[in-house]
Amino acid sequence: MAETVVPDQTDYWKAQKIMNFGKYLQTHELAQPLTWHVLDQAAAEVPSRKLAAKDVRGCLSTVGHLLANAGKIESRKDYRARRKLSLRIANAPSDLKPLLQAFAEWNLRRKTTCWQVIAQVETISALFRWCMDIGITSLESINQHCIEQYFLTTYWELQCPCGAAFPITLQPGMPASSCTCGNQSQMVKVAKVASGTIRGARGRLAVFFDWAVLRGVISDNPVQIQVANPKQQIQHYPAEILKPLFDFIRSPESDPAQALVLSVTRSDARKRT
Ligand SMILES: [Zn+2]
Repeated sequence: MAETVVPDQTDYWKAQKIMNFGKYLQTHELAQPLTWHVLDQAAAEVPSRKLAAKDVRGCLSTVGHLLANAGKIESRKDYRARRKLSLRIANAPSDLKPLLQAFAEWNLRRKTTCWQVIAQVETISALFRWCMDIGITSLESINQHCIEQYFLTTYWELQCPCGAAFPITLQPGMPASSCTCGNQSQMVKVAKVASGTIRGARGRLAVFFDWAVLRGVISDNPVQIQVANPKQQIQHYPAEILKPLFDFIRSPESDPAQALVLSVTRSDARKRT
């Protein structure tokens, strides 16, 4: 332990810090094997009224980082990700927990990063909570219609021409009449988030339900909704504006520098289109 904590060159304050840690270790035994969990727990139990508490916590953290650098335990970042994943699963609806746990382990074995698995667990939990709110409490009961309704109410909203936005609900009757501007019938459906966000959620749910089908939990994947890529819009000037510009480029009477700039701009626009 001392070899791990004491660097080659130490000044007085560092030495003092290490001596405080040494005194702490004389009366506190750390559980073995040393892990981030053990070190965090020990740090949390150091009485904060002790003057050396900061030194002891700092040294416990240093021990962890040195062990991680030596490859003996995982990195702090990996540990935090794994702990966050465990918390997300623990906070999921109780019926879903065993499945989420198995799904997460399967994904981690496939070398999916822990952060990606956390996003998957969060997306699946959000869907399941939404389903529970409308009375659907089992995975088998989630069908295509349910998924479509989930995406509609979660990722889209109704927008009035005046700019006011309204949530889409499953209640009969749209909130068009509730807009104070008096517009009754011109509400349009618009996405609340970027299409990439919606496609990401769709992809994560599709993977989960595919996995559930493979495991025999359900017979069909209900995620059949398609989320279109945003259309690439090419904007251009109308011909009545472009023609005089081209005439200007061709004309021997035009200013050569200005004609050149216009010519280059036109070539660049052609490349982009
Ligand atoms: Zn309005």
